[in-house]
Amino acid sequence: MTLQKTNTGYTFAPLEPRTLPVADSSVVFPVGRVYCIGRNYRWNQDKSVAPQEMPPWFMKPASAAVPACGALPYPPGTQDFCHEIELVVAIGVGGRNLQAQDVEPLHIWGYSVGLDLTRRDLQQIAKRSGEPWEAAKAFDHSAPCAPIVPVSVCGHPRQAAIWLSVNGIERQRSDLSDLIWSVPELVAMLSRSVALQPGDLIFTGTPAGVGALQIGDVVSGGVTGIGEFTVSISQPEATP
Ligand code: MN
Repeated sequence: MTLQKTNTGYTFAPLEPRTLPVADSSVVFPVGRVYCIGRNYRWNQDKSVAPQEMPPWFMKPASAAVPACGALPYPPGTQDFCHEIELVVAIGVGGRNLQAQDVEPLHIWGYSVGLDLTRRDLQQIAKRSGEPWEAAKAFDHSAPCAPIVPVSVCGHPRQAAIWLSVNGIERQRSDLSDLIWSVPELVAMLSRSVALQPGDLIFTGTPAGVGALQIGDVVSGGVTGIGEFTVSISQPEATP
């Protein structure tokens, strides 16, 4: 391998930042980090979630964020590849130790709807053995998002249907008003743990009805007033 001389000071050309489309716009949203909140809707009258506790959270790399359109390859290393439909918050102004009442007016740039795709079999192994969740959650293409809608267009959704169907059959349906921790509470809580940055995405948790996807499935999802998407699950990516 020949060592290329560059004038940039970098050892090699850095990757372009990952971006997501903005709805009805030619500008794109540069993705910073991807944070994901654990359980944030009650599943089957589950009483085990106490609202005063901070929910668990985990991360995916920015490179996991892809536009939710076209074909998504079935990931390697799993036999239980699952969908989780989620409202996604797009941060425009960062900060730490935010007050919940400041989050909407000062820090949120927009909203999207996306999938927290999960290799559930690997997550169950990790949960049983106390291992980290990255293998289950942080794989390529694991955070597809619909175009981001600016707050100036959609406002701050508090009551809106969130739904997902596979091959035309509905699997998940709830309402944003059923979130255990509201978006301002979530963002404020997260900002007490890490300094948020512009470009950060926050997946806000999924309602009941998660399930497995197969090659060939057509997956549609949306949040009323924010957006809708359709993707199909394709064969695993070929080795380059
Ligand atoms: Mn999730």
